[in-house]
Amino acid sequence: MKRVAVLGATGSIGASTLDVIARHADRFRVTALTANRDVAALARLCARFRPEIAVVAEKGCESELRSLLAAQSPETRVLAGPEALVEAAQGAHADCVVAAIVGAAGLGSTLAAARAGKRLLLANKESVVMAGPLLLDALERGGGDLLPLDSEHNAVFQCLPGARPDLAQAGVRRILLTASGGPFRGRSRAELGDVTPDMACAHPKWSMGRKISVDSATLMNKGLEVIEAHFLFGAAASAIEVVVHPQSIVHSLVEYRDGSVLAQLGNPDMRTAIAHGLAWPERIEAGVPALNLIDIARLEFEAVDHGTFSCLGLAYQALAAGGDAPTTLNAANEEAVAAFLGGRLPFLAIAEVIEQCLSALPARPADGLDALLDSDLTARRQAQRIIARLAGC
Ligand code: NAD
Ligand code: MG
Repeated sequence: MKRVAVLGATGSIGASTLDVIARHADRFRVTALTANRDVAALARLCARFRPEIAVVAEKGCESELRSLLAAQSPETRVLAGPEALVEAAQGAHADCVVAAIVGAAGLGSTLAAARAGKRLLLANKESVVMAGPLLLDALERGGGDLLPLDSEHNAVFQCLPGARPDLAQAGVRRILLTASGGPFRGRSRAELGDVTPDMACAHPKWSMGRKISVDSATLMNKGLEVIEAHFLFGAAASAIEVVVHPQSIVHSLVEYRDGSVLAQLGNPDMRTAIAHGLAWPERIEAGVPALNLIDIARLEFEAVDHGTFSCLGLAYQALAAGGDAPTTLNAANEEAVAAFLGGRLPFLAIAEVIEQCLSALPARPADGLDALLDSDLTARRQAQRIIARLAGC
């Protein structure tokens, strides 16, 4: 029986994870569940899965959760705050941690799971972008496995020989990440001036949380994924390419020296990657319908429109600059996306905030967690100043 902690349990990845786990009560037991502040949703999940620990990130919410659980799951210990998230990730109650918190808020718990040698099922890409070398170091010290849940990285993992091979020795020439293109694929800049948050969150293929949905619409999601692939697979930026594939059936590809290109295909449903990560190296039922190639009929591929979707180029730029530039990129993006979702910033200004932030804050060495947290904070403050200026225009 594998004991699983689901961090970010009330979100989209959290729900898909619990759906897979519920299909395999003989294999997996949920021992910790966490949420930000949606106490009612967390309480419902606790009543169903009866974890040992439930954590609300926001302090002050724990008494409400405790009273909701008193009758329905009295054995669940209720904790609150960022330290409690770390405890949920590293405690002896779990063998396996699903890191599905959105944004930089997931960094502490992701690092803690890696340090503690848990099997880390990583959805929280922002923590790799912010602190890739630290995460790799924590994984090495902890000795656990990392299984990527991001569908592209899960696909690459499946197309590589074994976990974390040396790419040169394995004969890998390129990693090709596919991008759906998001809801605004094919539009010009002029057509994106007044798009709303709801339009940006209406993804044609994937149903996801609002932050990653906006990232998909700007293509920053693919930018974060290029940086994620660089750290997770040890690939040079020049060996990671992005191709737009609107059907989202081919989740990514690996090209080998001999001309072979291996791809992983499947319906666009995160439960495939989650089931793969939970059971690896075994395979289990995920609840995903079989792929019907006759119905799909066509697989299309096209180049990225870098002129309209400049965020992808900014991510390559941050990766090339190195040091804390990816941390700055991530922080500026989080602030800009929150401002857009809050109706304070137009869609096209998201890229502008990030670009101005990167040029105002030249890359510094990224030596240690404190330095990175400082870079994160500095970039957020800088982004807020830029947002205030742009919003005033
Ligand atoms: P979501 O918004 O649906 O859920 C986020 C979860 O994190 C919720 O449980 C929320 O309560 C929790 N959370 C939010 N802020 C928090 C904070 N400050 N402290 C602690 N917990 C907090 O997001 P999602 O779509 O499930 O995405 C989660 C992560 O997975 C993101 O990093 C995203 O990029 C990544 N991801 C998602 C998908 C997808 O299909 N949804 C695919 C690939 C990768
Ligand atoms: Mg992805």
